[in-house]
Amino acid sequence: MVRGNAGLPYTAFNGPIVIFKKSAKFHVVSIGKFKLVDFVCPCKECDNEYQKINLDLISGLIRMQDAGKLPIGISSCYRCKAYNHAVGGLSNSPHLDGLAADIYCVGRSSLELAKIALIYGGFRNIGLFKNGIHVDKRPWKGRLRIWNYPGAELAVPEFREIMNKELEQLNGNTFNQGN
Ligand SMILES: [Zn+2]
Ligand SMILES: [Zn+2]
Repeated sequence: MVRGNAGLPYTAFNGPIVIFKKSAKFHVVSIGKFKLVDFVCPCKECDNEYQKINLDLISGLIRMQDAGKLPIGISSCYRCKAYNHAVGGLSNSPHLDGLAADIYCVGRSSLELAKIALIYGGFRNIGLFKNGIHVDKRPWKGRLRIWNYPGAELAVPEFREIMNKELEQLNGNTFNQGN
């Protein structure tokens, strides 16, 4: 299934989504250095339901992995409704659409990982955990969507300032913050 997105810049592209069932015999077991199982909902309730993974999300994670030769781990990607509810996710969480991943990397701080996500993964929606980050490929309208979770190493204003600077550098200082 490909979601319509004509006229939007590439970064707002919602991307094609792969839909499959866990119960189906997988012919695909690995994607880059990730395993398909890393992306699926870990609960048992949805073994027979469709799982969704956004291809833009996957390619962003693979670009991060390749750029830094990073051993990136995925702690949560697609979530079915029941599991999302059980872990306290928002009812409109992008994890429900296969657009989001919570990731970590041994030996890298959450902030370092966030910068790598911005620069190499093309992520513009980034949440800071104590040990890792949330990234997602919800449509992006020019502004960074930056937030944090309890225990994160930085408060939101500091985190936003650092990430805005990174983005300005990335855009060669032509970035118009009003957009
Ligand atoms: Zn599930
Ligand atoms: Zn998340």
